[in-house]
Amino acid sequence: MKSIAELYEVLLKAYGEQNWWPAKTPFEVCVGAVLTQNTNWRNVEKAIENLKRENLLTPEAILSCPDEKLRELIKPAGFFRQKAEYLKNLSRFIVENGGIEELKKRKREELRRELLKVKGIGRETADSILLYALDKPSFVVDAYTKRLFYRVRITETESLSYETVKRLVEEEIPPVEENIGVYRELHALIVEHSKRLCRKSPLCSRCFLQGCREIG
Ligand code: SF4
Repeated sequence: MKSIAELYEVLLKAYGEQNWWPAKTPFEVCVGAVLTQNTNWRNVEKAIENLKRENLLTPEAILSCPDEKLRELIKPAGFFRQKAEYLKNLSRFIVENGGIEELKKRKREELRRELLKVKGIGRETADSILLYALDKPSFVVDAYTKRLFYRVRITETESLSYETVKRLVEEEIPPVEENIGVYRELHALIVEHSKRLCRKSPLCSRCFLQGCREIG
């Protein structure tokens, strides 16, 4: 594979637009981005349904929800003590900064730095929030990205740092407003392809991509 742009085109042609993130509001994206840490999306959906039923999908509602109740509601997503605390931290950050719409007015880099200071918000969570909730061109890297880039020979090793892989994408596809859609789709397509074919044990005989590394 010659470039990330080429990989994007091939995946898009194969799977079509993914239209992520599966959420109704930007705050729901934020909640999902925290809850999806170390678990699969089906478990996140159950936790979000619980929060929805209790009308808790606003930062103010999360903040005023008793800890015990919040933990109980998000239990399906696992690590519920930690995640309840993280959700409160993130909600506090949003409220103290005037809400989602005010946050959207801030610059990407500054916002990213601030988000990364919130306990429980790591790089992948911060970039998911920036890209899918706050409409900022900030590419999301995950383990699938590192694995696929290595296998299709975009990178020479799977163990590059998060920031290095992110920079690689953003140097080739610049972080400008017009590319928000590309970043959103590229991340979603990498996840889709990694789940369908480029799994831990890849299904290369069924794959449309060629020229990959031999996987042991
Ligand atoms: S499944 Fe195989 S052929 Fe397809 S992208 Fe992964 S390593 Fe390459």
